[in-house]
Amino acid sequence: MGSPSPIDRHLRRLRQDRLLSTGTIFDIKKFAIHDGPGVRTTVFFKGCPLGCWLCHNPESQSFEPELMIRDGRCTRCGDCVEACAQDAVSLNGDSVRIDRGRCDQCGACADVCVAEAIEVAGRDVTVAEVMVELEKDVVYYDESGGGVTVSGGEPFAQPDFLLELLKACKSRGIETAVDTCGHVAPHLFRSVAEHVDLFLYDLKVIDDERHREFTGVGVESIHENLRWLAETNRGVIVRFPLLPGVNDDEANIHSVGEFLSSLANRPRVDILPYHKAGADKYGRLDREPRLPDTEPPSEEEVAGVARRLSDFSLNVTVRGESL
Ligand code: SF4
Ligand code: SF4
Repeated sequence: MGSPSPIDRHLRRLRQDRLLSTGTIFDIKKFAIHDGPGVRTTVFFKGCPLGCWLCHNPESQSFEPELMIRDGRCTRCGDCVEACAQDAVSLNGDSVRIDRGRCDQCGACADVCVAEAIEVAGRDVTVAEVMVELEKDVVYYDESGGGVTVSGGEPFAQPDFLLELLKACKSRGIETAVDTCGHVAPHLFRSVAEHVDLFLYDLKVIDDERHREFTGVGVESIHENLRWLAETNRGVIVRFPLLPGVNDDEANIHSVGEFLSSLANRPRVDILPYHKAGADKYGRLDREPRLPDTEPPSEEEVAGVARRLSDFSLNVTVRGESL
């Protein structure tokens, strides 16, 4: 047998480094400035164990790829109808209709759509492929004190891929942050945490019953993991998405303040007021939003919540900015 080819050697090295672990992502956002310190690249994992009513990334919730449609871009050329072997696409008036029961997410319709009216949210990638993208921006991370943020979806829902991506970043000297809902088995959470420089930790509703109603899961592991992060004095910023009609009532704000002030080393809490930037995504996925009429809170309301949380001697910021 001859000596291995350069490609074989390259693949062997990738396997040894476990860079061929695969996961499903739906986006890589460059030059992000709200996902941790400095300039960052945010990698969005697909799939989440929660089903939050006001999720601003509904395409992140399913673990499977999904088609997203932008009717306004469609030129009605009909190429997607021709391309679909499942007979799942039709043109109906001004809109492109997908029979999602027939669709097998092959992506052929999106591939032929030069107008980019059809997009597939979600693709399988290797750690090596993600690293190629991240490496391009190392100079920006170094100059700004930034790095990589893994978000979602819920990153911990793909634990092997998350771990290998974090290890690859650390081996390259890239700072890492993970944006998590915290609904993770504590032993798993702790085993991955040592590879994370900063946690962006979502805290929405304190009461267990209301949390179940709003997200579909209870608070036990969410509280336990946050307590552990605080006790072990790891880098953590708590993110409180302020969601009108869901978690902005006095009882919940009081409970959030009480809970955070009970933690060791009192982590900073960053208020993220609800915005409507992702609202149109529900229609593009043929889904009904749970609370379609919700409007963003006024700046006065946001300031009021910030003051209430500050009363608990917490370091409070709004959208990352000090008060
Ligand atoms: S291929 Fe794109 S532009 Fe053409 S009909 Fe389909 S969605 Fe519209
Ligand atoms: S993804 Fe494939 S099966 Fe689904 S509508 Fe497009 S072409 Fe048809």
